[in-house]
Amino acid sequence: MSETTETIFSKIIRREIPADIVYEDDLALAFRDINPAAPVHILVIPKKPIPGLADAESGDDALLGHLLLTVKRVAEQAGLANGYRVVINTGPDGGQSVYHLHMHILGGRQMKWPSG
Ligand code: 5GP
Repeated sequence: MSETTETIFSKIIRREIPADIVYEDDLALAFRDINPAAPVHILVIPKKPIPGLADAESGDDALLGHLLLTVKRVAEQAGLANGYRVVINTGPDGGQSVYHLHMHILGGRQMKWPSG
């Protein structure tokens, strides 16, 4: 999992495949999940192709903080004033399927816990 590989998200960043992009800045991109698990399901990704949270390094601390603040900004923009869930699936046991770090924002309904 430590190798940097090209994923479908790199193609979305480069606009080679379409996505419903809701936010972009120099470091981050946010777009709607193609297979939503909640009424609002948005992915926040770094433009830097970090494969997963387990691959983040100490030099990524500012980027990771920026991503979390981007989550907050995008959730506000999406109208999730009553709350939302943020998920980072990490590695095979974490259920990660795309190996480009991403934070799921899930909202618009009551979320259940534990998530399963
Ligand atoms: P993971 O399972 O790795 O945590 O989440 C990957 C997410 O990416 C899934 O929720 C999946 O629906 C979403 N996804 C996969 N391919 C695409 C795509 O091409 N476009 C968009 N918008 N979402 C995708």
